[in-house]
Amino acid sequence: MKTKTVKTRRLSPQRKEVIKSSKDSLEETFEDLLKDIYWAEKHLTKALPRMSKASFNEDLKAAFDSHLEVTEHQVKRLEQCFQLLDKKAVGKKCMGMEGLVKEGEEVISDLNEGHARDAGLIAAAQKIEHYEISAYGTLRTMAKVLGKAQCAQLLEETKDEEAEADQLLNDLSERINKMASEMQEEEVE
Ligand code: FE
Ligand code: ZN
Ligand code: FE
Repeated sequence: MKTKTVKTRRLSPQRKEVIKSSKDSLEETFEDLLKDIYWAEKHLTKALPRMSKASFNEDLKAAFDSHLEVTEHQVKRLEQCFQLLDKKAVGKKCMGMEGLVKEGEEVISDLNEGHARDAGLIAAAQKIEHYEISAYGTLRTMAKVLGKAQCAQLLEETKDEEAEADQLLNDLSERINKMASEMQEEEVE
């Protein structure tokens, strides 16, 4: 049997030059991403009341209301993080969250109140939660590598909350999708 020899890749002189001259550090990337999610969370606190108001199902409404409280606490946690880094808490516009919130608004304006629109609201909300889970996972990993254990802990806590919110939405969607499809059957009959 032929064994493959692993070739170690040599960096070209040009690439070495790029790395040497680059002043950007992982710390800066981390801070940029922290500003992004800070803006995103604050933006979400403005969108959640609109999603709650548009909810037909009372449990869905309650889920949006309680996630608003959770989100406000997450904003505080990010401010703690900035403080630990000795940095001012400033946001930087998050294109991802802006777009995801817009998708939710489209659901509200395009559909009439009812189970089917609720299903659309859940879809939009789950996309938001997944975006956040991914953002906090990345940030937590970076914080760890950078030796910022307290920050990493705070980011991990939020990540777990977002996963919980996503799970609750999963449970709600199972019931609400069923009601939405039963409504449709009634219409057909
Ligand atoms: Fe959040
Ligand atoms: Zn973003
Ligand atoms: Fe969230």
